[in-house]
Amino acid sequence: MQLSIKKQTQILYGKHAIVIGGGTGIGLAIAQMLADEGALVTITGRNQDTLNAVTSDRIIGIAMDVRNETHVCRQIKEAVNINGPIQICIPNAGIAEGKALYKTTTEFWRNMMATNLDGAFYTIRESLNSMRKTNWGRVITISSIAGLKGQKGAACYTASKHGLVGLTRALSEDFIDTGITFNTVCPGYVDTPLVRQNIDSISKRSGLSKKNALELMISANRNKRLISTKEVAATVLWLCQYNSSSINGQAIEISGGQV
Ligand code: NAP
Repeated sequence: MQLSIKKQTQILYGKHAIVIGGGTGIGLAIAQMLADEGALVTITGRNQDTLNAVTSDRIIGIAMDVRNETHVCRQIKEAVNINGPIQICIPNAGIAEGKALYKTTTEFWRNMMATNLDGAFYTIRESLNSMRKTNWGRVITISSIAGLKGQKGAACYTASKHGLVGLTRALSEDFIDTGITFNTVCPGYVDTPLVRQNIDSISKRSGLSKKNALELMISANRNKRLISTKEVAATVLWLCQYNSSSINGQAIEISGGQV
């Protein structure tokens, strides 16, 4: 009896959501929140063991490297075979590292773009095959405040995240008359493994202590604290709902204030 009441109130009951980079950090919080609302969730990442550690009756893990087009196409087909047509696509996989442009090698640039931008392009294109058939979908990319303003010392990351905002906005125009919406969320510093790695990187580059490097990131958020992964996930869940269908082509800041 309790189960059937829960089913009726689950706002994403039976929908297939794919969360790219869903085994850790922000992606994992999103995957868990969507699954709690009844979605069948596929999470991806490069490491199958990382994914296996967080799977459940509603979350399956399929390993893939978003930089590899053939791999993405094959694994998304596999996800559709298992969980049905994709209706919610969250391209979240990303890497972040600051580097002065004059020290940036082509290899570093290509790897950042391949992960943060090419990966989203492949994933969205393949997921749209499903959404166009059902004429309903939600694509929510995970950009950054660096997608809205220049991030000092991180030109490559900034360019990749601006690219993501542009891709999302353009697609919202292309699909304006359909049931598919495209939005992007732009978090400030969120408490995840990626930010913890950044503490080391900032401290190495600037000579700051690790404590001061963390303080620097915290003070960049307008509310002077790290954002929690659940705060980002809650915004994504809201955008996935039926009643959010008029929110389209938006870049939503989650940084405790205006950037
Ligand atoms: P995270 O825990 O390191 O998440 C990144 C995810 O991307 C991991 O699950 C990682 O899995 C996956 N990934 C990386 N390279 C990949 C590749 N080549 N192929 C497939 N998957 C790959 O860090 P996070 O903070 O949650 O970051 C998630 C997203 O939020 C990123 O796009 C990041 O730019 C963005 N963001 C984060 C913050 C922040 O402060 N944390 C702020 C703004 C925006 P594997 O390593 O196992 O492949």
